[in-house]
Amino acid sequence: MRRSPLKPETVELAPLERAGILLPLPLAGAYDYKLPRGVDAPRGAVVMAPLGNRETLGVVWGPAEGTVGDNRLKIAQPLDGAPRLPESLCDFIDWVADYTVNPPGAILAMALRSRTAFEPENLRTAYVKGDALPAKLSEARKRALAVADDGLARSVSGLAEDANVTPAVIRGLIAAGALKPTSLPEFAPFALPKADFTAPRLNDEQAGAAAHLRQAVADQKFSAHLLDGVTGSGKTEVYFEAIAQALRQDRQVLILLPEIALTVQFLDRFAARFGVRPAEWHSDLSQKERRRTFRAVMRGDARVVVGARSSLFLPFDELGLIIVDEEHEQAFKQQDGAIYHARDMAVVRARFAACPLILSSATPSLETFINAQTGRYSHLKLHARHGVAQMPCVKIVDLRREHNPDDVAKWLSAPLRAALGETLAAGEQAILFLNRRGYAPLTLCEACGHKLTCPNCSSWLVEHRYKKRLACHQCGYEIAAPSACPECKAEGTLIACGPGVERVAEELAHFFSDARYAIASSDTMHGPAETQGAIRAMAKGEIDVLIGTQIVAKGHHFPQLTLVGVIDADLGGSDGDLRARERTFQLLHQVSGRAGRAEKPGLVLLQTRNPDDAVMAALASGDRDAFYAQEAEFRSRAGAPPYGRLAAVIVSGYDGDTVREIARQLGKFAPSAKDVKVWGPTPAFYALLRGQTRERLLVQAAKGVDMQAYMRAWLAAVKIPAAIRVAVDVDPVSFF
Ligand code: ADP
Ligand code: ZN
Repeated sequence: MRRSPLKPETVELAPLERAGILLPLPLAGAYDYKLPRGVDAPRGAVVMAPLGNRETLGVVWGPAEGTVGDNRLKIAQPLDGAPRLPESLCDFIDWVADYTVNPPGAILAMALRSRTAFEPENLRTAYVKGDALPAKLSEARKRALAVADDGLARSVSGLAEDANVTPAVIRGLIAAGALKPTSLPEFAPFALPKADFTAPRLNDEQAGAAAHLRQAVADQKFSAHLLDGVTGSGKTEVYFEAIAQALRQDRQVLILLPEIALTVQFLDRFAARFGVRPAEWHSDLSQKERRRTFRAVMRGDARVVVGARSSLFLPFDELGLIIVDEEHEQAFKQQDGAIYHARDMAVVRARFAACPLILSSATPSLETFINAQTGRYSHLKLHARHGVAQMPCVKIVDLRREHNPDDVAKWLSAPLRAALGETLAAGEQAILFLNRRGYAPLTLCEACGHKLTCPNCSSWLVEHRYKKRLACHQCGYEIAAPSACPECKAEGTLIACGPGVERVAEELAHFFSDARYAIASSDTMHGPAETQGAIRAMAKGEIDVLIGTQIVAKGHHFPQLTLVGVIDADLGGSDGDLRARERTFQLLHQVSGRAGRAEKPGLVLLQTRNPDDAVMAALASGDRDAFYAQEAEFRSRAGAPPYGRLAAVIVSGYDGDTVREIARQLGKFAPSAKDVKVWGPTPAFYALLRGQTRERLLVQAAKGVDMQAYMRAWLAAVKIPAAIRVAVDVDPVSFF
């Protein structure tokens, strides 16, 4: 398949009687259809197309191929109101499909997620003042008519409420012709954000960065910018200035956030700056909200959208700016279905839209950092926290030396307990960070050594002691905590191994019985409401200690928080994964950045058994760039990204033997090519996941290799049975 050029191409389609129509399904490409004579249906026009014995949405994609005889072609119908995906979105979809080695229809499906968005608009009936005057005018009727005098259309109940009369009064006026019906659009329009609603006074460094970004927006062409500033330096305030500029120029803005959990706070902050909340787009929205936002974006009524990665596929036609906040976050990588990295695809979307892109982070991904260093992106730095706040002091606690066999404490070292004592005595707050949910990650039988594992996944069952249950964090499988070993049936021999956040909380309560604490972890056991509740309680000062997983590391601003204790800084640092060190650094840096964000100075204690590790050293010294230089050196020597290219193939299915056989064949038929090496197959990290067996292969190639062409040629060489899924992950960021 042809790689689409980055420059949008115009497709000559008129006069249209036949067209290639792309369906939102993982089919090979566009299909030929006939269109009713005389309709104008350019590329992007949304149609209803018959498919088998049903109908599906489709999009006019290009000229017909013309291989099918006219009489065999079915007729696709353009929709009322002639909705159309912008051409820049169509080009983007083609590009993403090509890059991620997916059929374009699979990518189009992501753009047509809101199935009801194209249905005719429902109208609401409302009433305005009519021409007739009723013979009898009671006080209530007079009041209602006085309210209606302003000319606004209201529903029966709305008018009754505004006039403080019963609905019966309103209905009487309608019957008398004193009020007449009119119709209102189904949804109230999105209010326009105001560029100058309130604007902070920026400090010099912020002002410099803001001026640069305003200019980029004014230029209305593609450019990429890394907004690289320490936590609390005002990156958000700075990119708000770029948004203001886009609003002044009447352009649309897309802001990508890594997690829905962060949106609520963000919406309020946006409203404080621009007067109204922006539109939202993520998986928690109802069908109706999706429909509303999708239509408003397509018509240009929604000027600013805050969303998760899928918002990249919304039909913006007037994009003037894209922002990716916390650009290093792995959550931007979509792992299910078509596998893509929203940050990388945002760069491409910005190119097609000819607008600037801002990547914001205190700990950029190495890829982005190198792009900024080599000048492909502009590098805007904010070195200091805004105002009087200072960066926290980071200290290492060497667990090998602190270990005292007589100590009853298992997870809170003596220095951490001492610091907690001081913090609580001063009436300040602390976070205890451990990236492990539940009570204990492993339950083991002391008698026979049996480990409690999930029947559907190759993973341990995690104990959740509050709920007295064991759960699989991969598939959600759950059982009541057993009293006897399921293997050897011995009673009372099951022991909890290692800590989770609940266990740390237990130890905290033991040593500091007066401390008020809460646990925050994204969890099947503790829902998002509970997590939000814990975070709100922390912000209001209703608790002293917040014990949490990575959910507490992100974006929160707790002015009274002066101590961060990292229970196990070594977690996730040493498992052969290419990005494990970078990720550990980013996460620990981010959680450290919660401390001392206001007047009071912050202290961070990192408990580790590897105090000499480069990650620990970089965190303690604050010399981030030295760490990046070293990582870059490692990757360069290994030919790893961004100095070389990687792609993974994941073979999965319920029949383990077939999965292994297909993986073996893929390994055998891998084409040999210059500068390309294929590793595997090997069982994936989760060799069993939700009941499916998984095998992986990894392709490593030099930078100049056309990875997509290689992958296509390869996959075409092996016949894949329908029950087996072969997923391609170009530029993998994790290797589960
Ligand atoms: P970052 O996004 O870099 O972590 P924020 O933009 O969240 O930083 O800023 C941190 C805090 O400092 C926020 O409460 C923000 O409102 C405040 N702040 C930053 N810059 C200014 C400024 N120029 N004037 C007033 N407050 C500011
Ligand atoms: Zn499971």
